[in-house]
Amino acid sequence: MQGLMQDQPLLISSLIEFAERHHGDAEIVSRRVEGDIHRTTWRDVAARSRQVANALDQEQLLFSDRVATLAWNGYRHLELYYGVSSSGRVLHTINPRLHPDQIAWIANHAEDQILCFDLSFLPLVQAVQSKCPTVRKWIALCDADKLPADSGVPNLVSYETWMGEHSSSYDWPSFDENSASSMCYTSGTTGNPKGALYSHRSTMLHTYASAMPDVMAMSARDSVLPVVPMFHVNAWGIPYSAALVGAKLVFPGPWLDGKSVFELIESEKVSFAAGVPTVWQMMLAHMQGNDLKFSTLKRTVIGGSACPPAMINAFQYQYGVEVLHAWGMTEMSPLGTLCTLKNKHLTQSQDQQMAIRMKQGRGIFGVEMKIVDAEGKKMPWDGKASGDLLVTGPWVVKEYFKGEADPLVRDEQGRGWFPTGDVATIDADGYLQITDRSKDVIKSGGEWISSIDAENIAVAHPAVAMAACIGVAHSKWDERPIVVVVKKPGAEVSREELLAFYEGKTAKWQIPDDVVFAESIPIGATGKILKARLREQLRDYKLPGL
Ligand code: AMP
Repeated sequence: MQGLMQDQPLLISSLIEFAERHHGDAEIVSRRVEGDIHRTTWRDVAARSRQVANALDQEQLLFSDRVATLAWNGYRHLELYYGVSSSGRVLHTINPRLHPDQIAWIANHAEDQILCFDLSFLPLVQAVQSKCPTVRKWIALCDADKLPADSGVPNLVSYETWMGEHSSSYDWPSFDENSASSMCYTSGTTGNPKGALYSHRSTMLHTYASAMPDVMAMSARDSVLPVVPMFHVNAWGIPYSAALVGAKLVFPGPWLDGKSVFELIESEKVSFAAGVPTVWQMMLAHMQGNDLKFSTLKRTVIGGSACPPAMINAFQYQYGVEVLHAWGMTEMSPLGTLCTLKNKHLTQSQDQQMAIRMKQGRGIFGVEMKIVDAEGKKMPWDGKASGDLLVTGPWVVKEYFKGEADPLVRDEQGRGWFPTGDVATIDADGYLQITDRSKDVIKSGGEWISSIDAENIAVAHPAVAMAACIGVAHSKWDERPIVVVVKKPGAEVSREELLAFYEGKTAKWQIPDDVVFAESIPIGATGKILKARLREQLRDYKLPGL
């Protein structure tokens, strides 16, 4: 017997319709690329996202066609979030911090048809446009009078001209909730970047879950500042969850330095903010240097990399801001766990509570986790046994866009589990703690650096026989890459020469901080470099200047 409730697909359009109807005058505040503050409302964002949909129809974009963005957090990006996905197209947010060659590779792989970009990325667009044959229209996210003359970019039009002439009436279509809504490539694995393709259903379920009290606890009383970029896993879903609850949204644009972020928090009475540790490090340094205090900030989600205990301490006990330490992945939309205390912890000492807060938190309803040993056998949740972390759930990827192999690991019941590449313990109360990473990539300031790319460049140098790139702890960037190099017999290359060899071949911030020359690099039975052993060998290594 079937239930007798209405069968309505879960679609992203319902979020913007809800926000418009119930929270139409809630503000959306953006610091623009130009530096000025722009104010709009959910009502206007809804109307303009319908104009975007009409403009996409005019371009004859079909269902599931991809529209890419290279953009900061701002209201126009938000309009694209809703206009593109709600009309049945797929929003592809590209990380502008990548090397132009990687950006072109991603845009080609996704077969993007339209690419919308903030003017600060014009040089990037100029560098990639000839390598992106599928892109037939380039749209600068600016007013008509800001459009640069002689940009060299074909079919360049300003966003306001492109969508401004269209009607703000549009009936959002209804379709299968499993249709693709947005995509985001991750370099957080090995090999080429991989596309996580979210669906309307996965996004909606993630949105419901993320607003819950033990997750982000968002409400219509909040003023929310996502410092985490909208080009990195949909800013942890905040553009959607803010609409679900009707919160005020505050966007920092490209102004991510400590002073700018702090001033925005104060001027817009931000109560809840989300970001990676690096951004908060800069803001705390600014506050401590100038003896500043928050007047409205109550909670902050910190994730993307392990949050240092000193940061939790500073927010929690020096500034009275609750830290919600979170763990997730691009492949998980991204939320997996979030750290809040349980009732029984409330009477514990500050030290005992700190020991919990330092962990990455408890699984959110919707995400199941397990840790396994090398044979795939389940390990106990005792807070001591550490194993490979696998997850499953309706907002976890089942395969990558145009992916070659099934990335899931099947259990005895045939259920597919996604291997995260993280190594973790889980305690009896269900708190996860990431202890290591089995994947070889390095995370610096919340962004990935491919160790393979760094190694390939090093071995392309005529004096290098073998190279292994690993991440080492860094106080500001969490991790920085160094490259361990074995020279060819009789060949010579200095540290400086090798680092200079990287220039122009990869993004500047992806160049290793140091070169360590070695006699040999440990190799395993299958011929793979044993990164864990190498990390162990270099345990006492200190980065220059630290
Ligand atoms: P991304 O796909 O770029 O969001 O990166 C996901 C990866 O970042 C995870 O698999 C972890 O390796 C790392 N990560 C995310 N959050 C945390 C955290 N709170 N602590 C430690 N590592 C984290």
